[in-house]
Amino acid sequence: MRPWNFSAGPSTLPLEVLQQAAAEMTDWGGSGMSVMEMSHRGKYYMQIRDEAEADLRELLGVSDDFAVLFMQAGATAQNALVPLNLIGRNGSGKADYLLSGSWSNKSYKEAVRYGDIAVAASSGEETELDGGRYAPWTWFPAVDTWRVRPDSAYVHLCSNETIGGVEFMDWPDLAELGAPGVPLVIDASSHILSRPFDFSRAGMVYAGAQKNAGPAGVTLVIVRRDLIGHASPACPSALDYANVSQADSMFNTPPTYAIYVAGLVFKWLKKLGGVEAIERENIAKADLLYGYLEQSDFYSNPVHRPVRSRMNVPFVLADESLNSTFLAESEQAGLLALKGHKLVGGMRASIYNAMPLAGVQALVDFMRDFEKRHG
Ligand SMILES: *Cc1c(COP(=O)(O)O)cnc(C)c1O
Repeated sequence: MRPWNFSAGPSTLPLEVLQQAAAEMTDWGGSGMSVMEMSHRGKYYMQIRDEAEADLRELLGVSDDFAVLFMQAGATAQNALVPLNLIGRNGSGKADYLLSGSWSNKSYKEAVRYGDIAVAASSGEETELDGGRYAPWTWFPAVDTWRVRPDSAYVHLCSNETIGGVEFMDWPDLAELGAPGVPLVIDASSHILSRPFDFSRAGMVYAGAQKNAGPAGVTLVIVRRDLIGHASPACPSALDYANVSQADSMFNTPPTYAIYVAGLVFKWLKKLGGVEAIERENIAKADLLYGYLEQSDFYSNPVHRPVRSRMNVPFVLADESLNSTFLAESEQAGLLALKGHKLVGGMRASIYNAMPLAGVQALVDFMRDFEKRHG
């Protein structure tokens, strides 16, 4: 049996997907070619690309009001491409950012180079909530505290902070904050396809594929068509959403193999019953792991309960001197990549769509046994 891989990204892929890619490696569909060897404009690849887009649209319930783009350079490049493409939308040159952890802070720091960027709200301070004290970046600012300028070109947030393990899903209607018509731009890299998204509340959703949707090398950009077409002259042509959209993501050679494998992941997910079905599985996995952490004094998770991520579960051992023993023994037990991000320390279990309940059960069994021996 393969070990269970809890890597935060690139991360575990469904075994069936890897096996299918292996079976088709040297001859895709009787074409006599590997997908890697095909023209991106040939009939075989066009079919692969078109099915990938159609399947992604179906899974997420994305209407034709949105363009679905397969881009390169990662979610990190979107930190610049979002302002370069969108901030000229209404002539204000303004955008507002929610700061809730490492990734949203990176987005903000990049964006300030391109416009009048303000912080809408931040969880960067210790706070008191529901009678408990929470450290910086372990909670999410309540919607009624957001300051959104009515003439902003957009509001940016990260809906799942991969490092801190904070997930925020109550995307508001900004009209209620006095900013009707200001679109939300959402970095959903680490939980796209893990649950239904309400696209009526979103102007744009983007995600690097390598957490939950496929291999590294392709970035999914789903953007409302009426928001594009106002890119700054400084925006590279190949990364102008209008150009990419017009060319069906073939403005230049796309990352063909990464899109193909992502397409296999979409088909795998459809076969399982789509995002509603995988959401039920993800809730069961998260309940199992958080439930165990809750009742233990040996381990703990620092995040405010309503915004605990179903995908990325950071936890610490009460006795940090046991960290290296925990990591060595877990690896021996076939549980890989549990070391936490250096910014938060401790451990992190990333339990994306491709991690089955059995993998989380194996982790909890190991943790219980470790606690028994060292607690
Ligand atoms: C991993 C990650 C990124 C960065 O993705 P790259 O593809 O490496 O640029 C950005 N945002 C979030 C939330 C992530 O998890």
